[in-house]
Amino acid sequence: MLNRKIETPIKTRRFDMEEPIYTADWAYMRELRTHNRTRQILPVDPYAEVYQFRDNLYGIFQENIDGKGDVWSWLILGPEKALLIDTGFGLGNLKGLAEELAGGRELLTAITHAHPDHAGGNAQFEQVMALEEEIPRLKQMMESPLLNDKILGPDGRCLWVKFDPKDMIAQKPYTIVPLHEGDRISLGQDYEIEVIKLAGHSAGQAAFLDRTGRTLFPGDDLIAMRIGVMGGPGTLRDFRDRMARLAERTDEFDGIFPGHFIADLDSYAVRDVAEALEAICQDPSKYDYTEEGPRGTTFCKTVKGLGCIGYRPECV
Ligand SMILES: [Zn+2]
Repeated sequence: MLNRKIETPIKTRRFDMEEPIYTADWAYMRELRTHNRTRQILPVDPYAEVYQFRDNLYGIFQENIDGKGDVWSWLILGPEKALLIDTGFGLGNLKGLAEELAGGRELLTAITHAHPDHAGGNAQFEQVMALEEEIPRLKQMMESPLLNDKILGPDGRCLWVKFDPKDMIAQKPYTIVPLHEGDRISLGQDYEIEVIKLAGHSAGQAAFLDRTGRTLFPGDDLIAMRIGVMGGPGTLRDFRDRMARLAERTDEFDGIFPGHFIADLDSYAVRDVAEALEAICQDPSKYDYTEEGPRGTTFCKTVKGLGCIGYRPECV
């Protein structure tokens, strides 16, 4: 493991990663996780670190058990209801934690996309909102074990972090509430969260826009590392168009709170991502460098000041 270990009293203990995390991200996370004064680890969920970013916004941080980047869930407190964005991997009692932080408000749950590090914890909730394109994948996940051979070695132990498998939630069916582009999720009075379809990283990847709090939650479509674009032909052009439309709305939010790594990025990062996507679409062969991973070679186009967009030519 190339990244320096981060010591906190959380119940997972990371000892390896699938790949190194970019140094700027790791430095931010190390500083936050060891020195941030808002950090709480509540007895209800010893696997989560809780940070307060705004009066009504909590970041819930969990170490990712599949060897990839550690994960954020976000909790927005509205006047009457609270919205939890993403459910982590299903390790620990995220539901109990979110309810405690919600302070008696009704708790709503939505996911940015149906990947196991963001939706693995869905089954502990009665119902979860997701863009309709993600529903087939969520149904598939409902029927598959959370712990698979990407997570567990031949000896049955996790390859990446130490944890007690007994603390994994049980898989069970839950209700999926389909979301659509432009939907508003009401948190009471006139506090609304707008649903924006960005696609890109997955077919139904959503961003959530809190115009009252002036914050954007783009999941893995805007992260300060490699933004992985996955899908068939046309995916990248569609993603470019959607990001370009969002780039015209940067006066509506100040802080971007992604699914991984550095949080509270400035809104202009959307314009920088849109610019890089445009450059890829103009000439997909003009990548800046390549990265080798378990799934082969990824082309990487630099996003200035942020990271890169990782893609394969067939996604354009
Ligand atoms: Zn992710």
